[in-house]
Order: sequence, then structure tokens, then C-alpha cells
Amino acid sequence: MAFVITEACIGEKAADCTDVCPVDCIKEGDDQYFIDADTCIDCGACETACPVGAIFYEDDLTEERKVFIDKAKQFYQSL
Ligand code: SF4
Ligand code: SF4
Repeated sequence: MAFVITEACIGEKAADCTDVCPVDCIKEGDDQYFIDADTCIDCGACETACPVGAIFYEDDLTEERKVFIDKAKQFYQSL
């Protein structure tokens, strides 16, 4: 399990989340930032820091937002 960044980040990208992540597992993609699920320690700091409420715990994602789990996975596989 991990935290996941969703649609509110697209075009926003203020990057407040990267400043608070203790394990530095949030990276910038083309249209949004992504959390590396393999490194995230589920601390929740990024969720609190995000000014647009884009970050959710994986278990709390709505069905429509589950696509962002795969989007993050694909981003990290492409690095
Ligand atoms: S703080 Fe929120 S909007 Fe800003 S980059 Fe992080 S997830 Fe995206
Ligand atoms: S939950 Fe914690 S470890 Fe995971 S991405 Fe957010 S700040 Fe980083």
C-alpha cells in the first residue's frame, strides 16, 4: 500500500509534497507528480501538505481514481 497522487495535481504541481516526504519518493512527471509505491512508507505527510487535496491513501481511492495507481507504476517503470 502507498499514497497516490490524483487528478488535482495535474497542471498544479506546486511540489509542496516533495518538501515534506522523508524518503524522497515523489518525482515530477510530464503532467503531474508521482509517488513511488515501493519506497513510500505511508507516513501521510504529503497528504497533509498538498494544497489541492490531490493525495489519497490507496485504500481510500474512489473507483475512478484507481487509474492513478497504474499511472504512477508506469511512470516509475519508464525511468
Ligand atoms: S503538493 Fe499536491 S499538487 Fe503539489 S505537486 Fe504535490 S501532489 Fe501535486
Ligand atoms: S506518504 Fe510519506 S513517504 Fe509516502 S509519499 Fe507521502 S510523504 Fe512520502
